[in-house]
Amino acid sequence: LTSSQASSGLHVIHIAAEMAPVAKVGGLGDVVTGLGKTLQKKGHLVEIVLPKYDCIQYDGIRDLRALDVTVESYFDGKLFQNKIWVGTVEGLPVYFIEPHHPNKFFWRGQYYGEHDDFKRFSYFSRAALELLLQAGKKPDIIHCHDWQTAFVAPLYWDLYAPKGLNSARICFTCHNFEYQGAASASELASCGLDAEQLNRPDRMQDNTSQDRVNPVKGAIVFSNIVTTVSPTYAQEVRTAEGGKGLHSTLNFHSRKFVGILNGIDTDAWNPATDNFIKVQYSANDMQGKAENKAAIRRQLGLSSADDQRPMVGCITRLVPQKGVHLIKQAIYRSLEMGGQFVLLGSSPVPHIQMEFEGIANQFQSHDHVRLILKYDESLSHSIFAASDMFIIPSIFEPCGLTQMIAMRYGSVPIARKTGGLNDSVFDVDDEAIPRKIRNGFTFITPDEQGINSALERAFNLYKNNKESWKQLVQKDMNMDFSWDSSASQYEELYTKSLSRARAAASTV
Ligand code: ADP
Repeated sequence: LTSSQASSGLHVIHIAAEMAPVAKVGGLGDVVTGLGKTLQKKGHLVEIVLPKYDCIQYDGIRDLRALDVTVESYFDGKLFQNKIWVGTVEGLPVYFIEPHHPNKFFWRGQYYGEHDDFKRFSYFSRAALELLLQAGKKPDIIHCHDWQTAFVAPLYWDLYAPKGLNSARICFTCHNFEYQGAASASELASCGLDAEQLNRPDRMQDNTSQDRVNPVKGAIVFSNIVTTVSPTYAQEVRTAEGGKGLHSTLNFHSRKFVGILNGIDTDAWNPATDNFIKVQYSANDMQGKAENKAAIRRQLGLSSADDQRPMVGCITRLVPQKGVHLIKQAIYRSLEMGGQFVLLGSSPVPHIQMEFEGIANQFQSHDHVRLILKYDESLSHSIFAASDMFIIPSIFEPCGLTQMIAMRYGSVPIARKTGGLNDSVFDVDDEAIPRKIRNGFTFITPDEQGINSALERAFNLYKNNKESWKQLVQKDMNMDFSWDSSASQYEELYTKSLSRARAAASTV
């Protein structure tokens, strides 16, 4: 096994189910890469452990090779061999674990959504710790993410610290409390955890069912640091309404729980260098933005008769969380007010997908509305670049990235004040907020009136005060949504946790 090179900074190992761009489903993958790259730049040694899925985008991995030795790990009363691969993704060293288990856990053609996900990821969590132990790693921080690798926290303290992998503090980040991975308590034994000991109200027992265990709850209880992806969401999940059953656990452990807003990858999302868009542009040279708007109108067959007509964009998964009824409302209201509307989205929920297909057909050859119901990375860049405004009317939103990307491309966000949107979009008319950070239009009540009023204010400014609008667009483009400040907050949490542990150790 390869050993870690010496580093004067911290040694941080992420154990995760996703990493952008090679194994990405959602924001979690972006965080692992964005946070990892930024901390690496600051001089820390950052390594990642991932499952070796068959569906990884292998062309994004440099120098992928299998190690000579295998790692043996425990599951369901037996030992299984794991082949270990190493490679580099976006400059970060990554270990890929390929289990030689008859169930072919990561040969399923997809990342999640298998009937045995609980087994797949509890297996992976244990194998990852086994790898660190056998490789003689001495990390300062082991950082796990979401329910899939939440098992790492109890496994570490119950099994691996006693075996000698005991240099680390455990940090757990929950990217969305909607997904907790609860399962029948008996399933926990497969990875070697003691189901009887852990199925207790103060440990892993699900707060709504006595015979179920909840991996996210386990990670909250057993980690030294618990984070989520924005300060407002961290507050919301501590309420009965927003906590999805975990508010009491989070309140009990509130001293170790914080919300840190995610950043965006400002290299990938940069209108001055973006190769997906027709004409590159920047805050100081906005001509290109108008050309991108003209280009997408041609591409989508929208009317080009009036180039002053504002274009509203929306790029999203079409799921209830994203406020689908408000998105529909925004389409009609934008049209009534003389705007154009472009939606790029797809839905895993069949009735929502069907409903939007109906709307897409209704507007099939309309001059001012186009719905494109698929996932399309390239088109998403063109829409960010072309649109004047961007709607994000989420019902809840742990962090949200599109509001930050939209601003970087000079598209003014119109957002519901919830979760990470509340921490990144500030209403231009809100006197309580310093003028220099006011950057968009917000509303609170998730109904027609709410979204209408925000849209109307945006249209008003756009149409009646061109100079103010231009200044707003330029201000948005210059806002800093890079990972720098968020990564510094993680760095501080890591460091404080380590010094607390060292102080405690020196007093015994
Ligand atoms: P979530 O992770 O809940 O889906 P985020 O706002 O955190 O929401 O991240 C969504 C990311 O996925 C953004 O980068 C957005 O541009 C992208 N995205 C969403 N839907 C599509 C789509 N249909 N085509 C292309 N990109 C999309």
